[in-house]
Amino acid sequence: MGQKILVVEDNELNLKLFCDLLRAHGYEAEAVRDGREALERARAFGPDLVVMDIQMPHISGLELIEQIKADAGLRRTPIMAVTAYAAKGDEERIRDAGAEGYVSKPISVLRFVEAVAGLLEAATARAESEPEASEGEAASEQLFPGESRDPDGCDEGEGEGELDPGLRRDDAGPKGETP
Ligand code: MN
Repeated sequence: MGQKILVVEDNELNLKLFCDLLRAHGYEAEAVRDGREALERARAFGPDLVVMDIQMPHISGLELIEQIKADAGLRRTPIMAVTAYAAKGDEERIRDAGAEGYVSKPISVLRFVEAVAGLLEAATARAESEPEASEGEAASEQLFPGESRDPDGCDEGEGEGELDPGLRRDDAGPKGETP
């Protein structure tokens, strides 16, 4: 089965477009229409990547990105933000919130798919080899190479699919170095 992508988007047409596009490229796409459910759904689904709309009712995508990046089990999951406003300040705020990638609406289908593939590749490379990552997170991954996320390799027969929502992926690792 393909890599898992959680798509958080309140607009039904965009949601369908993104999911269809991802599925056509062999990914397993899971749709979330209400941002308020995003964190819980992400914990249950264990995505390899999150596509995150920014403009949503009830809760902003920016806020959700921050919450995901503050979650021990999800923080290494790459996030690709999608936003209708291409203002430069917005892109900076999106990146500051912790998103690894960014595309603006209306999306270019090709760019969208390429961006997804690029982020997944980068995340896999980061998990497998040396972390070119920043700050303290890098150190903990080096200390516990077996604990690094490996979507395909599954080292100890530990199933990738069924992550107990109560369990965090890196409970075994040292904590507290996150800036
Ligand atoms: Mn929206």
